[in-house]
Amino acid sequence: MKFAVFNHKGKKHLGRLVDSETFLECLDIPESAFEQDGVVSLINRPSPNVTEKISVSEVEFLAPVPRPRRNVFCVGKNYYAHAEEFAASGFDSSAAKGAVPEAPIVFSKLPETVEPTGTSIKLDTTVTNTVDYEAELAVIIGTPGKNISRENALSHIWGYTIVNDVTSRDLQGHHSQWLIGKSQDSFCPMGPWAVTADEIDLADTSVKCWVNGELRQDSNTGLLIFDVPTIIAAISNGITLKVGDVIATGTPAGVGIGFKPPKYLAAGDIVKIEIDGIGTLENPVEEI
Ligand code: MG
Repeated sequence: MKFAVFNHKGKKHLGRLVDSETFLECLDIPESAFEQDGVVSLINRPSPNVTEKISVSEVEFLAPVPRPRRNVFCVGKNYYAHAEEFAASGFDSSAAKGAVPEAPIVFSKLPETVEPTGTSIKLDTTVTNTVDYEAELAVIIGTPGKNISRENALSHIWGYTIVNDVTSRDLQGHHSQWLIGKSQDSFCPMGPWAVTADEIDLADTSVKCWVNGELRQDSNTGLLIFDVPTIIAAISNGITLKVGDVIATGTPAGVGIGFKPPKYLAAGDIVKIEIDGIGTLENPVEEI
């Protein structure tokens, strides 16, 4: 099933998409319960009542997890072709260890970076002119755990969404740690909604990204270097994963830095990411 957080006539709702994603059934959950956590608030409410049915055309979507309670975990260089293009770009402060990592590279983005579909990626040209897009499948944790084995990892997943791991390449390269380059305000578009785990085949789900209609990224989760169970096992190795944690699993080849010359984002650009079985996350770029 697909669940969304949205505004309708000035009121926030948590709802379920029905009728081929043309309508939303609003669920009887108080706003105070989902305002921050979004779809995560469903985890201990298995069958809320439906209060009303609203056309998707009348709503404004919010991020499915509007404000994660912790930083968004992210995996770097997790598709072979992207690891090669990034190492060749000259911005890779981890390149000395080789293009393809021996263990998952894990960094994070601040919770305040999360934005819904439709809102703009803010381009502050006094800070950076090398802003790039990264289409990624993101995992939403539903069952907490520590030292989770690969074998048990999938049972800890509630569902999935799409994340655009927007990145300032010069800041990423300038600081050996990636947090600043990855956590500029508005740098984590998420959505348009979330799907339950049963909707996604991790071995074969396409991930695509267009900028202004030009297909830039076209890959498949079956090509991840470290698959989702391996990622969950690695992050939970001594760190307790909590309900509502979000993990972005890495981006395929075709980011702006991979082109010669690079194709960085500019004001007026439209970034559209589509993941099979989830939907489409679309955000314009706006100079501030
Ligand atoms: Mg990324």
